[in-house]
Order: sequence, then C-alpha cells, then structure tokens
Amino acid sequence: METSDHTSKQKIKVGIPRALHYYRYFPFWKKLLEELDVEIVLSPPTNKKIVEEGVTHGFGELCIPVKIYYGHVLKLVRDNPDLDYIFVPRYVAEVKEAYFCPKFLSLPDVIKILPGIPKILNFEVNVKEFPIATSAIELGKEVGRTQNQALNAYREAQKYFDEYHRFLREGASVNHALRLVQRNLPFKLPKKKSKGDIRFLLLGHAYNLFDTFINLDFQKKLKDQGVDVITIENLPEFIFKEPVIVNPRGGGLRNYWKHEEEIMQSIRYFMREGRDEIDGVIFLISFACGPDSLISELIMRDMKVVGLPFLEITMDEHSGEAGLLTRVESFVEMVRRKKKKLMLESNKAKSVKSL
Ligand code: SF4
Repeated sequence: METSDHTSKQKIKVGIPRALHYYRYFPFWKKLLEELDVEIVLSPPTNKKIVEEGVTHGFGELCIPVKIYYGHVLKLVRDNPDLDYIFVPRYVAEVKEAYFCPKFLSLPDVIKILPGIPKILNFEVNVKEFPIATSAIELGKEVGRTQNQALNAYREAQKYFDEYHRFLREGASVNHALRLVQRNLPFKLPKKKSKGDIRFLLLGHAYNLFDTFINLDFQKKLKDQGVDVITIENLPEFIFKEPVIVNPRGGGLRNYWKHEEEIMQSIRYFMREGRDEIDGVIFLISFACGPDSLISELIMRDMKVVGLPFLEITMDEHSGEAGLLTRVESFVEMVRRKKKKLMLESNKAKSVKSL
C-alpha cells in the first residue's frame, strides 16, 4: 500500500477551524485523528477579528457561517506556520435520501485558494457513492497509516460519537459536551442551577446555535429570562426515522437538504405528540441562507396551525445586541402571558366541571 512520507516524522500537525461542521462533528474528527496519531490544533473561539477577516475574503452574497470559516482558516494558518495540513472535510451526503448544502460540497476547493494555505486534509462523506469507512482509509493513507489502523480508528471514532450523541439526548447542551470533548473529560451532566417556567425549542444549524460570538450568546439571553432551551440534538432518535412529506395531498414533496429535514422532523413531532412539551419555537437563520429560508416559511405555517408562538431571527455580521435583546424580551413576555392565560382558562374549566 502506498503511504506518504509522513511515516518518518514524529507527529503530523493538523489544524481544525472551529466553525461550520466543527459544531456537529468535532468529537468524531478528534477521535479519528487522534487514533491515527495526529496532533490537532484548533482555532480559538470566534472573535471580532476572525469575523472581519472572513468577511474580507468572502464575497458579498456568501452566508456569514462560511465567511467565519474563512476567518478561522486564516487565523489557524497565521498562528501555526508549522501546520502540515488543514482539515477541510467535504460533506456531500450522510444518508442516501438527502444532501448537505452545496457550500459544504465545495469547501475544500474554495479553501485551497486562500493565501498561504498548507495541504488540505480531506475527508469526504458521500454515502451515495461510497461508505464512510472508505474515506477513513484514504485519510489514514494520507497520514501514513495502514488500512487496518485506519479502520480501527474509524470504529473507535464512531463508538465515541455514538456515546456523545447519547449524552446530548440525555439533555446535555452541545457547548457543554464539546468542552468535555476538548478537555478529554468523561460525559457528565452539569448540576442544574434553576428551572425556567417556559421552554423553547431553538432551531437552526449547529454553527448558528452554538457559536456564541456570532449569535451574541443567544442561549444565555434566554436563560437569563427564565427560559429553558432544547435543541434538536437533545431529541430522541425515533423522531428522525420517518421522512417528512410536504404537501402530501398535492403529490407530496420530500426535503432535499439533510439538516432542514431534521428540523422539519422535529417540528412534526412538536405539532403532534410533543405539543405540550414546549411553549414556543425560535429559528436562528443566517442571512443569505437559501435552504433555511425555504423551510422557515413552512414552519411558520405549521406553528400557526397548532398555535405555537414562533420567532425567526436572521443573523449576519452586523447583528446588534440591543435590537436582538428587545425582540427576545418581547417574545418571551408574549409567550409567558399566553401560557398564564391558558392555565387560567384550563383551571376555570376544571372548577366548572367539578361543580
Ligand atoms: S445551509 Fe445556509 S448557512 Fe449553512 S452553509 Fe448553506 S447557505 Fe450557509
């Protein structure tokens, strides 16, 4: 088997940008690369400079998460001139029925034209064409490992990733779980300080929900106002088994995008059996995101049908703290009043019945 000349070196150093799919797949990547005896360097959490630099290199129409990714790549490369590779996976399809957004399909190609970029370490996920294990073997080959070593690393990574998902389904927040992964700590839920009186489902791509710089620490704003938050990562697995058929009476359409399908599946659950588990829904979307703006309209209609309060917030690099806080506060207040009113009405109905 052909191997690269890295076998003679001590440890290969690979930079991982803390952006985009980092918020979804980092535990898997970390385990996989560490099992392959690779040293990982992570870019710092997003900050103003990273955003500014990303915006400078991204063309105008691009969504903010991809511009931020550019910023992270450039920061990593500048701070670590000794990097052997930069890890830029190409996510095409993780299931046979749906694709990732086209921005992910072309990511390695657009990153390699940025200035001063080292070699790209690719990891292509496209189960429509080949199993993920094949990509693990290719990755292992690139860093000088045998096929068996790569397959073992892949199995370990998948095992760890399953454990990580079980932890999220127990109720852990993604940010807490990622901190444990980074520090190599066991998965343990934090002690709950207080319980909010209302509960929201927060929807959106992981990079919008868990990058606290770009979303202006949105979840903290909700928690400060006594709101409990769940995200789709916390929901049970069975919700994501059945596809969502949009407009079944008019011939039926299936969702083309992987993540948008998951959002629609969770919405369908809360429209039916999970209706009483939440008091409202907030959808954080990026400016210029085609897939999200399509489903946002559908969600809004569904929420009207079941009477669940819904708020859509569009974020970009110019989003301001004060405007966001005002919108969140008034939404929370409206939901709280609605809940109180419903409770009063239901108590009245009960007392009339018992007369
Ligand atoms: S799904 Fe939307 S936000 Fe995400 S990369 Fe694609 S266009 Fe950007």
